[in-house]
Amino acid sequence: MISEKLQKAINEQITAEMWSANLYMSMSFYMQKEGLDGCAVWLKKQSEEELGHAYDMAAYMMKRGGVAKVDKVDVVPQSWDGALGVFENVYSHECNVSKMIENLVKIASEEKDMATQDFLWGYVREQVEEEATAQDILEKIRKAGKSAMLFIDDKLGQRK
Ligand code: MG
Repeated sequence: MISEKLQKAINEQITAEMWSANLYMSMSFYMQKEGLDGCAVWLKKQSEEELGHAYDMAAYMMKRGGVAKVDKVDVVPQSWDGALGVFENVYSHECNVSKMIENLVKIASEEKDMATQDFLWGYVREQVEEEATAQDILEKIRKAGKSAMLFIDDKLGQRK
């Protein structure tokens, strides 16, 4: 059985994952409007991944006898300053998510819940990848001129 305190914290994270999914969906729409279809594809995949995290966390809690909840999701931004602005936001957002996950690990540790700590380590590792990927794309966009940006867009559109 998972403690009430942890259930509340993970339910808040589920809401945060849904907010992330909406953020990336909004970015995907924006990139499509800007004519960068590859970036739009990459961000759509990212959005789907975040929704997957919400379902994964809910499934884990239910397995441990907890109750998963869907809460109200705040509005997300709708406009950025081009691809550079978008990916600067992707990177800073992923750094924030890492902090949130680390805080969850801290609560699970205070609650002496080993299974939840083990579950969350997967997300700690995932965040290392997320930050590195976002930083890598950001660096490429920073170095790119207009024509190189089209090449990057094509590459991002190949995300499986
Ligand atoms: Mg996530």
